[in-house]
Amino acid sequence: MMKRRGRFAPTPSGELHIGNALSALASWLQIRQANGEFALRIEDIDKPRSRPEFAAQGVDDLLWLGIDWDEGPDKGGRFAPYVQSEREERYHAALEQLRAAGKVYPCYCSRSELASIASAPHGLSSEGAAYPGLCRHLTAEEQFQKEAKKTPAIRFIMPHEPIAFQDGVAGWVQYDGDALGDFVVKRADEMFSYQLAVTVDDSAMGITDVLRGADLLDSTPRQLALYEALGQQPPSFAHIPLVVDESGERLSKRDKSLTLASLRQAGVKPERLTGALAHMAGWTERLEPATARELIKAYHPPRIPGSGIVLTERILQWLLNK
Ligand code: GLU
Repeated sequence: MMKRRGRFAPTPSGELHIGNALSALASWLQIRQANGEFALRIEDIDKPRSRPEFAAQGVDDLLWLGIDWDEGPDKGGRFAPYVQSEREERYHAALEQLRAAGKVYPCYCSRSELASIASAPHGLSSEGAAYPGLCRHLTAEEQFQKEAKKTPAIRFIMPHEPIAFQDGVAGWVQYDGDALGDFVVKRADEMFSYQLAVTVDDSAMGITDVLRGADLLDSTPRQLALYEALGQQPPSFAHIPLVVDESGERLSKRDKSLTLASLRQAGVKPERLTGALAHMAGWTERLEPATARELIKAYHPPRIPGSGIVLTERILQWLLNK
C-alpha cells in the first residue's frame, strides 16, 4: 500500500513561533501515527525575506521539539532538493505548461493600481482584494505595447465555478472561484509565487496529506485550481486553528517571547511545550509533559474550536514553570 506522506514547510523569514510548532507537531503526529513518511521543506522562494540563519535555527528548533523527518535539506531524499530556491526550474516548467494550456496571462497593473500583489501565502488579506481582471482580455496588440514599458506579472485564470473540498478539520468548505480572483503565479520581479511553488512541490514530492495553519485555508482553493490545471491529483488538506490568547488574539505575530528560540532560552523543556500543545489541541485530557513521540498514539484530528486554540494564562504559566 502507498505510504502516506506529510511535510512541514516553513518560510525562513523569522523564528518559528508556537503556532508553527503546533502545525509542525500536528502534521508530524498524523504521519507518524499512520506509519508514513515525513519531509521538511524550506520555502525560501521569497529571497529578500528569507534568511539562511532562520532556516538553520528552525531546523534546530524542530529537532529540539522532538520532530524528525525522513527527507529534508540536511539529509536529502528521493525528491531532493528540499529547498525551494533550488527548485526553480520545476516552477518554470509548470508555468510553461499553464501557458501552453492558455491558463495564465500577463498582467501589467502596477502595485499602486492594485492594493497588493500576491506572493505571500497568508490568506485573502495578503493576496489583496480579488483582482478585477483588468488585463485578462487584452489584445495581442495591447500586450505588445504594454510589454515595451513594463515586465508583466503572470496571473492564473481562476475557474468561474465554485471550488469545494473536505477539510480534515474544518469539514466541508466551499469557495467562489470568481470571488478569489485571478492570482499571481509569477511576479513582475521574476519571483514565483507561494501558490505555484507550494503546489508544484507538494505534487512532485508525492505529498498525500497537507496539514497546516488555518491562515492558509484561503490558499487551498487556489492550489486546488492549480492541481486541476496541471493535471495532478491533489493531496488531502486539513487546517488547524491558529493559536490565540484568551481574548482571541493571534499570538504568532504579536508576542516575540513565544518563539521557540525564546522559549528554549527561558529554559522551557520540549516535553512541556509538546504536552501543552497536545492539551490545547484536545489530544490529551491532562496538562502534563509529553514528548512528541509519546503523543503519537494520542493524536486525533482536532475538533474545531471556533475562535482558535487557546493558550490560556494558566497554561502559559505552567509552561514557563520549566
Ligand atoms: N511556507 C508557508 C508558511 O510558512 C507554509 C506552506 C504550507 O504549509 O503550505 O507559512
